[in-house]
Amino acid sequence: MDTQRNISDVTVVGAGIVGISCALQLQKKGHSVIVVDKLAPGEGTSFGNAGVLAECGCVPVNLPGFAWKVPGLMLDSHGPLSIPFSYMHRAAPWGLSFMWNSRTSKFNRVADALSSLLQNATQRHLQQASENNAGQWVQSSPYYYLYRDEANFRDDSVAWNARENRGITYDLLQDEQLHNAEPAVSGQFNFAVSLHNHGYVSNPEKLVKALADSFVRKGGRILQADIRDIRFTDGQPSGLITHKETLPINSLVVAAGVWSRKLAAKLDRDIPLQSERGYHIEIKDPGITLHSPIMFADGKLVATPMENGIRFAGLVEFGDLDAEPNEDFCHRLFYHAKRLFPEIKTDSYSEWMGHRPSLPDSLPVIGRSENYSNVFYAFGHQHMGLTLGPHTGELIAQLVDGEQPGVDLTPFSISRF
Ligand SMILES: Cc1cc2nc3c(=O)[nH]c(=O)nc-3n(C[C@H](O)[C@H](O)[C@H](O)COP(=O)(O)OP(=O)(O)OC[C@H]3O[C@@H](n4cnc5c(N)ncnc54)[C@H](O)[C@@H]3O)c2cc1C
Repeated sequence: MDTQRNISDVTVVGAGIVGISCALQLQKKGHSVIVVDKLAPGEGTSFGNAGVLAECGCVPVNLPGFAWKVPGLMLDSHGPLSIPFSYMHRAAPWGLSFMWNSRTSKFNRVADALSSLLQNATQRHLQQASENNAGQWVQSSPYYYLYRDEANFRDDSVAWNARENRGITYDLLQDEQLHNAEPAVSGQFNFAVSLHNHGYVSNPEKLVKALADSFVRKGGRILQADIRDIRFTDGQPSGLITHKETLPINSLVVAAGVWSRKLAAKLDRDIPLQSERGYHIEIKDPGITLHSPIMFADGKLVATPMENGIRFAGLVEFGDLDAEPNEDFCHRLFYHAKRLFPEIKTDSYSEWMGHRPSLPDSLPVIGRSENYSNVFYAFGHQHMGLTLGPHTGELIAQLVDGEQPGVDLTPFSISRF
C-alpha cells in the first residue's frame, strides 16, 4: 500500500555526499525532492573518507604498467593492497578488467573524462557549502604529495605528466621549504609536490549532515528506510518498496554508492561495481600540528587535519560488502603514521572501514537509464566521490530538466558495460 500520498518530483536513493548534492542541486532548480536512505545522512562511505578535494584525481590508480607492480604491492606487509586468498576468484574478473584498462590509450581517455568532471571541484564545494550554511567544513588549502627525495618523485613522472597535460598546476618543495610548511613531517622525507587549487573537508560526515539539514530547512524531505525492491506499473518503475511501505516515485536518482549495483540490475543491467574497501584511523590529541592534507606517495595513504585530530586514510582491500573489517589494515595505518610523523602520540584514536564504489574503468556512472527515461544514475565515484559530489549533482539536475549537461557524459553511460 502507498503510504506517501504527496509524491515528490524526484526521489533520490542515498544520502551520501553524492545523493545529498543531487538533492540540493535539484532543489535549487525548483524541484520537490525526497531522499531515501536506510542510514542517517553521511553515514555510508561518505562518513570516513580522507576528506581531500582532489582536483588532481584525473589520474586513476591503474597507470600504464600497473599490472607489473601488483605482486610487489600485495607481498608488502605494510603495503596498500590486499586481496584475501578466499576472495581472489571473485576479484579476478574485476581485477583483470582493471589491469586491461591501464593500457596507454585507455588510460588517456579515462584521465580526460575524469578531468572534465573534476574542473573547479574545490570551488563547487565551497559554493555548495556556503549556499547551505556548511562553509565551516570546507577549507581551501594546498595538497602535498610527499616523497623521500627527488628521485622518488621522478619515479612517478607518468602520473605527473598526465596531470600537467590536463592543467593541474603545482610547486615543488625541497628540504627546508617542505619542513617549514609542515614541521611535523619526518626528516626522511625531503621532497614534496604542493598542488594548487585544492582543499579538504575537516569532517566529511558533518559536512553531509549540514547539507542535509539545509535541504530539509528549504522544504526537502528525508525518509529513513531500507529499499528492498522496485515496483513496476505498466512496465515503468513506479515505486520503491521499502522495509515498511511502498513509496511512489516520479523521477528516480540512484545514488546509493556501492549498493547501487542491485538497483541498477533491476532497472538496466548488472554492472561490475565492486567495493574497494578502505580504512581510516583518526588520532585525537596527536601532539603535533598538520596544516594541510598530505598524500604519502609510497604508502598510498593520506593524512588530513580534521576537526578532532589527524585522520590517516587509504589502502585497498577487496572483499565482501558484509565481511568484517581487517584489523591488520589499521596496524598498517599506524605504521605509516609513525613513519611520517615520528613525534605523533597515538594513545587515543578511532578506526573505520568503508566501501569505495568502484568500476574497473575508474569512471562513475552518471546519466540516464537506458530503459527508463525517468531514472538517472549517479554512482561509482571510486576514490573521488567526495570531490565529485557537487558537480555530479549539477549534472544530474541538468539531465532531469532535459538540459544539455555541461560535460559530455558519454564516457559515464551505463551502456558501456
Ligand atoms: C578510506 C577512503 C578514503 C577516501 N578518501 C577520499 C578523498 O579524500 N576524497 C574523495 O573525493 N573521495 C574519497 N573517498 C571516496 C569517497 O568517500 C566515496 O567515493 C564517496 O563517499 C561515495 O559517496 P556516495 O554518496 O556515492 O556513497 P555513500 O556515502 O556510501 O552513500 C550511499 C548511501 O546509500 C544508502 N543505501 C544504499 N543502499 C540502500 C538501500 N537499499 N536502501 C536505502 N539506502 C541505501 C547507504 O546507506 C548510503 O548512505 C575515500 C573512500 C575511502 C573508503
